[in-house]
Parts: sequence; C-alpha cells; structure tokens
Amino acid sequence: MAEVLSKNARVGIVTQKFFCTCGGEIKMKLVFNKGKLRNTAECEKCHKQERKPSDFKA
Ligand SMILES: [Zn+2]
Repeated sequence: MAEVLSKNARVGIVTQKFFCTCGGEIKMKLVFNKGKLRNTAECEKCHKQERKPSDFKA
C-alpha cells in the first residue's frame, strides 16, 4: 500500500485530476491568445474555462 501511495504522489504532479463544481472533469487545453500559446483549463461538461484547474475549486 505504501508503495502505491508513493508512486501516486510522484506522478500526481502531471496526471492530477481536477473536477468542476458541476462534476465534469477538467481538461487542459492549449489556446492561442494574442499570438501566444496558453494553457487553459476547461470543464468537459459545462465548458467553463479558467486559467488554472485549481481555479475551479473556489
Ligand atoms: Zn463544469
């Protein structure tokens, strides 16, 4: 069990899942904004967009 937990902690930074208040999963998208590629977090379900996945938790 401890082995599984530490493994999850290591990969958690990259594969961490976020969920919107509507229950939909947050996906990271690359969006062009003013000629720059930007990471945007978008809810799969309600398509609400935030700058960061953590912004959905407010
Ligand atoms: Zn949502």
